[in-house]
Amino acid sequence: MARAVREAVGQDYELMFDVFNGWDLTYATEMVRGLELIGPGWMEEPIPSDRVNEFRKLRTVARVPIATGEHVYTRWQVKELLLRDAVDVIQTDPDWTGGFTELTKICALAFEVPVVAHGHSMLAALHVAAAQAPTTVPRAEFLIRGQETKQFFHDPIYRPEGGDVSVPDLPGLGIVLDETKIEGREEVTF
Ligand SMILES: [Mg+2]
Repeated sequence: MARAVREAVGQDYELMFDVFNGWDLTYATEMVRGLELIGPGWMEEPIPSDRVNEFRKLRTVARVPIATGEHVYTRWQVKELLLRDAVDVIQTDPDWTGGFTELTKICALAFEVPVVAHGHSMLAALHVAAAQAPTTVPRAEFLIRGQETKQFFHDPIYRPEGGDVSVPDLPGLGIVLDETKIEGREEVTF
């Protein structure tokens, strides 16, 4: 499957693979070796992110960058990965890891390890990215299907064009609710 994707998009297109914590160390080692010829930009969450020693072992044998972070919470868990030299890319999510402030602290902590925030709150991640050096945050994740749901009630809806998305210049995150889409809601009394 990976080979078919590589052949379809060509050698110059960046491909990353997301395992969503699905493998153990033995299987991940074999798979990463097998995928080297495909030239992955990174392997994401090849093993559960709390297995820091296994990440370190995998990284020592892999010739592919190893990424994790959407299920890593707060700078303290990031610190463990960094201190053990266990990861090439940090992907903490602004929602899950503790918000803007914590993600910004993680950017400072990561130093030379790039931070590519997970894309649930794409607009929050985008604002943090815009405030950091491109060497610290070289890109942000955009979930092609997920963002259609998450921005359903928004106007404007932010989507990348040619891989680039502009930082909104509206107040706050740039979220404006489209009232026409939420007219049918029922009043809720607490
Ligand atoms: Mg992921």
